[in-house]
Amino acid sequence: MDMNDGVATGGVLTRRRFFEGLAAVGGMSLALSGLDALGFSMASATERPPELTGGAKGTKVLILGAGLAGMTAAYEMSKAGYQVQILEARAFAGGRCQTARKGFQHTDLLGNTQTCAFDEGLYINHGPWRIPYHHRSTLHYTKQFGVLLESFVNDNDAAYVYFEKGKGPLAGKPVRKGEIAADARGYAAELIAKAASKGDLDAALTPADREKFVAYMINEGRLSPKDLAYTGTEGRGFSVHPGAGVDPGPGKELPPFAFKDVLDSGAWRVLTSVAGYEQQRTML
Ligand SMILES: Cc1cc2nc3c(=O)[nH]c(=O)nc-3n(C[C@H](O)[C@H](O)[C@H](O)COP(=O)(O)OP(=O)(O)OC[C@H]3O[C@@H](n4cnc5c(N)ncnc54)[C@H](O)[C@@H]3O)c2cc1C
Repeated sequence: MDMNDGVATGGVLTRRRFFEGLAAVGGMSLALSGLDALGFSMASATERPPELTGGAKGTKVLILGAGLAGMTAAYEMSKAGYQVQILEARAFAGGRCQTARKGFQHTDLLGNTQTCAFDEGLYINHGPWRIPYHHRSTLHYTKQFGVLLESFVNDNDAAYVYFEKGKGPLAGKPVRKGEIAADARGYAAELIAKAASKGDLDAALTPADREKFVAYMINEGRLSPKDLAYTGTEGRGFSVHPGAGVDPGPGKELPPFAFKDVLDSGAWRVLTSVAGYEQQRTML
């Protein structure tokens, strides 16, 4: 692309053309870096919208789409004196932002209609569901319009993982995610530590490195320093809690699941948190 091609602008390279050029050459990441480098920070990183300058002088504006972008643009432009109208193709505003409560109906492009049969008071946001802390511009508008926010639990070690009957060795047992996390880490650390201590990783590590690495694995999997065995950890939970106070008592740790059961159940699949999953998706 010819970056000096300013056909529509009488030979002048506008910012818009420049950033389009960056995107064409290096994709969105280059365009975003360019925006950043030139001081045009991402909208989501700014506390509030930029001041609109230029003067509306009764100019009429037609916006296609009543999603967040269209409605935000309409709101800000109306404040600046433009005569704004939004044209929405569908029967509702909000675009991808939708909430299903009892009775909500959705018809997909193939004509299949689903009706939400939740109990009263329950809901799901089946489009966007989280406002990350750094989406400051979105948070700005939630404050401005008094939108109530709730904490979003991305990851919960105390949550129970459900395995249907007949689906593996842990089916039918109340299994907490944190228990699986501890067992998977512990057994993996045990295998690695044992391999490392026997010298199988000699090629990669000096003897001093190996010692430190084994110490790290002992810490990672809460292994026994004596025989490098994983026998559970107090972090995965107790059958009798130690309690608190002057003389709390030792409590009774829950024993780990067998390594084979952890593997055979496929339970380790639950270890990816929503945050981790989103991170992976973003990186793809
Ligand atoms: C499953 C899912 C999960 C998501 N999770 C998150 C999240 O957790 N956090 C987050 O920040 N973001 C999330 N997102 C992204 C977020 O939903 C979008 O970034 C945001 O809603 C986009 O808003 P928009 O106004 O740009 O577009 P849209 O919401 O798509 O709105 C576009 C609107 O334009 C209308 N339209 C299109 N063409 C025309 C036309 N020619 N004429 C008239 N109207 C037209 C459409 O009907 C629609 O209403 C998620 C998205 C999805 C689908």
